[in-house]
Amino acid sequence: MGLLAVYGVPQASTFIYYGLHNLQHRGQEGAGILTFDDKGVPHRHRGQGLLSEVFTNGELDHLRGSLGVGSVKYANASKSGLDNVEPLFFRHCSGDFAIAGEGNIVNSRQVADFLEKRGSLFQTDTDSDLLAHLIKKHGNEDRIERIIKALNMLEGGFTFVILTKNRIYACRDKYGIKPLCIGKLGNGFVVSSESCSLGIMGATLLRDVEPGEIVSLDHHGIRSNRYSRFSRHRMCAMEYIYFARPDSDIDGCNVHAYREEAGRRLFRECPVEADLVVGVPESSLSAAMGFSKESGIPYEMGLVKHKYVGRTFIQPVQSLRELGVKMKLSPVNSIVSGKRIVLVDDSIVRGTTSLKIVRMLREAGATEVHVRIASPMMRFTCRYGVDTSTPEELLCSRRSLEEAREAIGADTLGYLSPESTRDSAFGCADPCQACFTGEYPTLLYEQEVEKN
Ligand code: SF4
Repeated sequence: MGLLAVYGVPQASTFIYYGLHNLQHRGQEGAGILTFDDKGVPHRHRGQGLLSEVFTNGELDHLRGSLGVGSVKYANASKSGLDNVEPLFFRHCSGDFAIAGEGNIVNSRQVADFLEKRGSLFQTDTDSDLLAHLIKKHGNEDRIERIIKALNMLEGGFTFVILTKNRIYACRDKYGIKPLCIGKLGNGFVVSSESCSLGIMGATLLRDVEPGEIVSLDHHGIRSNRYSRFSRHRMCAMEYIYFARPDSDIDGCNVHAYREEAGRRLFRECPVEADLVVGVPESSLSAAMGFSKESGIPYEMGLVKHKYVGRTFIQPVQSLRELGVKMKLSPVNSIVSGKRIVLVDDSIVRGTTSLKIVRMLREAGATEVHVRIASPMMRFTCRYGVDTSTPEELLCSRRSLEEAREAIGADTLGYLSPESTRDSAFGCADPCQACFTGEYPTLLYEQEVEKN
């Protein structure tokens, strides 16, 4: 999911719309924007599909007001459908409000049971619905106190933006697993999942929301509250490796710089003799550049990505993923023919893409294909909202390195170590790497995590 909110800027919906375009890579299944106008009247439009498919007929003109929140929805099979497209809107005698969230609450079942036994009726499967009920459970206390108490009942990796008719609350989980930043836009403010959305809006980055922090944005400016004394910095490593855009800065570390450093370390850990380095467009290009610079092996554009085809990884259904892989890449025959290729990719999830690309390069005349992955072997399921599939579907959950190499048809296969994955993140000392190591930063509130 991608979140974007604006406070204190006339026709906020237009800025949110353009900002969300730069977050489209974070979700393609649905999009929505909600604003409050100057009289405190809410206006919302949402739908399923890409942002450009949802906002087609001048809907932005009806989303009046100088504050609003928008989101693009990530494909998650258990939470699909229009009802789950955010922002969600809630009416209440103490004041209407909207919520958009990202990530996953790992104790959501327990909290939902607790609330349902006290009369709550949920209309969606979202964590935002859960948070709204928790906030309202705490009756007549100050709103910030209610939000603090509500967040303290939740465990997981998440960010939320709560919008009232005169204020924005930007909340980040106490482990800092999900990214969220604040920018300055004119006389107002922006909250965004990634800083890459700020430039297109004419905004500048102020800072990241800290783990366990609630930032309030209103006519007082920026105010900060902590909802928990416990906080750690366990930013999701996959944001740096794959998910975020290279032009984003997260927790003081530029994503492109991270990937280039990871590529350099990858060569040092898994050297190989070859004629060309080829990156899998587009999230692997920075790592491929780093690999090339460190090894001295020339970098070439041996694969071309077709525009306008969605990321295979975040398509909700396997049949769509398969189709996406076939449609999205082509080899450049004249470049790869007769060459020993080092194919650098950011990660291998199911192996579907890797197998097809290796085959594609061989059919285009490559004499050898050596695959180098700029992250460790992905062996565990993410519990914090990244749909990395079940352990059965993951290529490496039950395969050795040699078996994985054989499965994707490469001549050799090498992965970056967890240590180098950590050390490539200059700004974040100890990122979450649970999908590689099985060491989850939070309690899971579920059955024992399966370890190999
Ligand atoms: S388990 Fe993996 S994908 Fe999930 S938050 Fe941790 S590093 Fe990110």
